Amino acid sequence: MRGISSGVYYRRIIAAGSGGSVIDCVFCRIIARQTAADIEYEDAHVMAFKDIYPKAPVHVLIVPKRHIASIAELSDDDAEVIGRCFLVARRLGETKGFADKGYRVSVNTGPEGGQVVYHVHFHFTAGRQRGHGA
Ligand code: AMP
Ligand code: ZN
Repeated sequence: MRGISSGVYYRRIIAAGSGGSVIDCVFCRIIARQTAADIEYEDAHVMAFKDIYPKAPVHVLIVPKRHIASIAELSDDDAEVIGRCFLVARRLGETKGFADKGYRVSVNTGPEGGQVVYHVHFHFTAGRQRGHGA
């Protein structure tokens, strides 16, 4: 059996005890306002903030407030909040003037998918031409 010092076990306890936030997750810390971020949008379920290392003229990360590690961890219960993330992408496209010009919404998943932060996030990038699938 895992001891209390096990990282996995510890994270599970924290997740159960504080409304779905994970104490050592950088995005949970931003959501809890324990780490600074340039917040672009927030409601009860979703937050959007500027990527600290932007890869496009506009680069915003859209995250569910509830900790979900990756697309690979999604359950049926997450369907609504994931849909809400796309609605926030649409809103950002409109408020930032890209509704007609277009923008990109992408999700990296797992080590070979380029995921570095294990709290599901949608990269909203806009402001320059990109090759298909780049
Ligand atoms: P990914 O590779 O899809 O997991 O993307 C993680 C993204 O999070 C990268 O684009 C990072 O620049 C961004 N990032 C990491 N830490 C922070 C932070 N504290 N505030 C804003 N963006 C961050
Ligand atoms: Zn998290």
